[in-house]
Amino acid sequence: MRLTIQTKLFLSHFTAIILVSGSVGTYFYQSATENLMNALQSRLKNSAALISQGLSIDNLDRIRDESDISDPVYKKNVVALREFIKANPDIAFVYIMRKLDDKVFFVIDSDMQDPALPGEEYEHDIPELMEGFLRPSVDEYITEDKWGFFLSGYSPLDGGKDDYMVGIDMRADEVQSKFEKIRLAGFLSLAFSIILATIFSRLLTISFTRRISSLTTRFASIAPIDDDVAVDMRGDELDQLSRSFDLMSKRLSIKQQQIDANEIELRKAHGDLEQRVESRTAELVLTNEKLLQEIAERKNVERILEETSRTDYLTGVLNRRAMTDRLEQVLSQTARGSKSFCTILLDIDHFKIINDKYGHDVGDQVLKHSVEKLKGCIREADELGRWGGEEFLILAPETELVEADNLAQRLCRELAAASIVLQRQEISVTASFGLTRYQPGENLAACLKRTDDALYAAKAEGRNCVVVIEPR
Ligand code: GH3
Ligand code: MG
Ligand code: MG
Repeated sequence: MRLTIQTKLFLSHFTAIILVSGSVGTYFYQSATENLMNALQSRLKNSAALISQGLSIDNLDRIRDESDISDPVYKKNVVALREFIKANPDIAFVYIMRKLDDKVFFVIDSDMQDPALPGEEYEHDIPELMEGFLRPSVDEYITEDKWGFFLSGYSPLDGGKDDYMVGIDMRADEVQSKFEKIRLAGFLSLAFSIILATIFSRLLTISFTRRISSLTTRFASIAPIDDDVAVDMRGDELDQLSRSFDLMSKRLSIKQQQIDANEIELRKAHGDLEQRVESRTAELVLTNEKLLQEIAERKNVERILEETSRTDYLTGVLNRRAMTDRLEQVLSQTARGSKSFCTILLDIDHFKIINDKYGHDVGDQVLKHSVEKLKGCIREADELGRWGGEEFLILAPETELVEADNLAQRLCRELAAASIVLQRQEISVTASFGLTRYQPGENLAACLKRTDDALYAAKAEGRNCVVVIEPR
């Protein structure tokens, strides 16, 4: 099983903190217990030395067995020992011992309930106790005997030739309780350390691994592609981060390839498009030119058609419809205040005879020649139109009746004077003229009727003449 970084970090930090705090705690625990022990030992040693100086060995060798407890020497010393106990409540027992042939015997014991009797052998082998016959000493460890657990100090009695020694017992349960307190404090501080270590280690690992996890998630979310795979979440956080990064790199590389491929496609498409636009533009230019040409041709045709629709096919002058339009145009100009106009209607005399005599084609030629003659005589502003068969109408804008009369007279003379040579035959024609002036306000039909009347009158007067009918 692979541990996560979070667990590893937690365990290492936790262990480090516990080790450090444990070592420090142990050091303080040991030094505290050692100091306490040293203080107790030194006190016991000093107390033993002090009391040894206050006691006398005089006549102690008289105290040999339990029958000697009534001896005044025994009594005196027991009182002294018990006084010492009273003055030092933490001391449990004080006693005097005698050494004889490497054996140790009680001489006097301060205990009031169950005292060791004189001559009772002390059977425990305690090196510090034996040392106490030579010099002040103290138990290195707590010792146990039939009276319980004790820490004891020892000191030889002066002048005793190393045969007498005074011992002081301090009850070990008191010492033990002090040690217990220190140990409890140690345990409490250790427990507190464990709690703090757990909290701090946990916070540290969370704050550390959270960033790694966040990076893993962010890498995994960059540049997603089609047919995507999820990050393999086996192993610890660094494994996951590493795989997430690899996945991101792979995706970016795929994306880059796609971008490159798209760019190539785009360039190709752009090239194709430009080519198509060029050829299409060329086609359009060509089509446009054709269209312009067609439009010009159509306009030309329209113009020709327009001209044809307004022109007499034989003579090329305006036909009756175009002439009527022109008359209405001039009439409206007169209505807007322009000078009035005159209308002259002429009809070839006895034209039927020409047709009959020379044929229709010759008749046509005569009509054309007559028109040419008329066109050569009228003024520039005047308009000539074929009114019907061999009848022609001349419109003379802004013209007084007299002027129009003069014009008609001249036309009549010129036409009669000119002869036409056709098929080696000299043909001459005359025409009769009727004219009038438009009376502003009247309608066109009234004016034309008057003109026609004038022509009729000219025919009636014998032809080849001009008749004027003035408007009323
Ligand atoms: P009047 O002096 O009374 O006008 O006698 P007229 O013979 O000129 O008159 P009429 O109305 O009897 O005859 C006109 C003739 O003109 C009849 C017709 O065939 C002829 N005409 C009309 N238009 C044309 C044309 O375009 N070409 C030719 N050749 N003849 C035409
Ligand atoms: Mg005629
Ligand atoms: Mg006629």
